[in-house]
Amino acid sequence: MDKGKKFKDMSADDFKKYGHELIDWASEYLDNIEKYKVLPDIKPGEIKSGLPEHPNFTGEDFNKIINDFEKIIIPGITHWNHPGFMAYFNSTSSVPGILGELLIATLNVNGMLWKTSPSASELEEVTTNWLREMLGLPEYMWGIIYDTASVSSLHAIACAREKLGFDIREKGLAGNNLPKLRLYCSEHAHSSIEKGAITLGIGREGVKKIGCDSEFRIIPELLRTVIRKDKEDGVMPFCVVATIGTTSTTSIDPIRAIGEICKEENLWLHVDSAHAGTAAIVPEMKYILDGIEYADSIVVNPHKWMFVPVDCSILYVKESEILKRAFSLNPEYLKTKVDAEVTNYNDYGVQLGRRFRSLKLWFVIKYFGAEGLAGIIRSNIETANKFKQLVQQDSDFELMAPVPFSTICFRYKPTGYLGDLNELNSNLMEEINKTGKILLSHTKLNGNFVIRLVVSGIRTEEKHVLEAWKIIKSVIK
Ligand SMILES: *Cc1c(COP(=O)(O)O)cnc(C)c1O
Repeated sequence: MDKGKKFKDMSADDFKKYGHELIDWASEYLDNIEKYKVLPDIKPGEIKSGLPEHPNFTGEDFNKIINDFEKIIIPGITHWNHPGFMAYFNSTSSVPGILGELLIATLNVNGMLWKTSPSASELEEVTTNWLREMLGLPEYMWGIIYDTASVSSLHAIACAREKLGFDIREKGLAGNNLPKLRLYCSEHAHSSIEKGAITLGIGREGVKKIGCDSEFRIIPELLRTVIRKDKEDGVMPFCVVATIGTTSTTSIDPIRAIGEICKEENLWLHVDSAHAGTAAIVPEMKYILDGIEYADSIVVNPHKWMFVPVDCSILYVKESEILKRAFSLNPEYLKTKVDAEVTNYNDYGVQLGRRFRSLKLWFVIKYFGAEGLAGIIRSNIETANKFKQLVQQDSDFELMAPVPFSTICFRYKPTGYLGDLNELNSNLMEEINKTGKILLSHTKLNGNFVIRLVVSGIRTEEKHVLEAWKIIKSVIK
């Protein structure tokens, strides 16, 4: 088997043989993942140095490829699926999602048009509607799947720009004698908002960061004042981005109050809930979406806290026509006879070719159901609160932000310590991460170095945060 020159694809027999082998590998990997260090202990360039400088001319035996994968690639893997991965906002993949990915690659359809795979288009409509219902978003919200929240938000900001009606799409920004456009977000908004503004010609100066209260939420009155002042100065406000679950602390901007201002000032309201939005699947967490009826668009990432493998981000927009107006551009070779009756998703974004992402989303929703997903997310929140209590009960530790979801911001502050707390905590985090048992990340709040511990992995249980606390304490001693 698998011998000789490879002038055609792998045989069906070999596919089965190696396929079964790799499924066994994947299953055992997930089952024994805790034997790995979450963060690999390697230096920059080390993985590259183990790989040949030039590509092989003759095809290799598949066993050798699997072997190299284990010997060369795995040692450089940061194990996002590890239950001790509590850094950033972790994305863990569930098994139904993994199997969905297998079929996505197997079918390999390109869902650019309805015709190029009717199931891909229609399943995207159905699954985005299902998720909308599970979250409790308004029925008029229309969903589209992109790769990441950064790209979802880019499209939302493009809609806000399009809605201004200056025909920027035809004339470009320079062709209009436009005043300076301005977008507002919190100083805690994700960097992707600024990147979107950079890409769309709004520029970084076109993004104004609004100050926050002591719980890291936009102060609506400040927003109103800044918008009015900008208007007086001849700047044109066009969009506000509010966040549900900011990156540093998962704070929730006051959507309702911000929405009122957007309504008064006629501004597009985009809500970035990439990480935390899926928590609204949990019935008692629905309150996080209070005021969402003011939103023109909202992004949620099933690839974050919903256990769908990366990548899968959904943008919901109130008026899909604006998205289409901004991006639809169909040359002759893309026209079909059914265009008037179907959704051709390439009309609603930058990319033409589209992966069949709705398939893995469908697998995950069907397998767990709304109840199952809510159960896992709820358990993550409860587990995180156990850790929060441990921090609060220890007088040498300090909780640095409220915990609305499952992200805990804390620092070590031993009684009577007179040294630099930022340095102390930065070093502490290094030591914790070196153990390889857990991985934490940090942020800065009001100039203070703060350690973040996030519980949003499908494999993270109470024992893992209890262990995390033990590791933290043992590193201090
Ligand atoms: C993770 C995150 C993003 C960026 O998500 P990508 O999908 O990686 O682009 C943006 N905003 C918030 C609030 C996030 O949590």
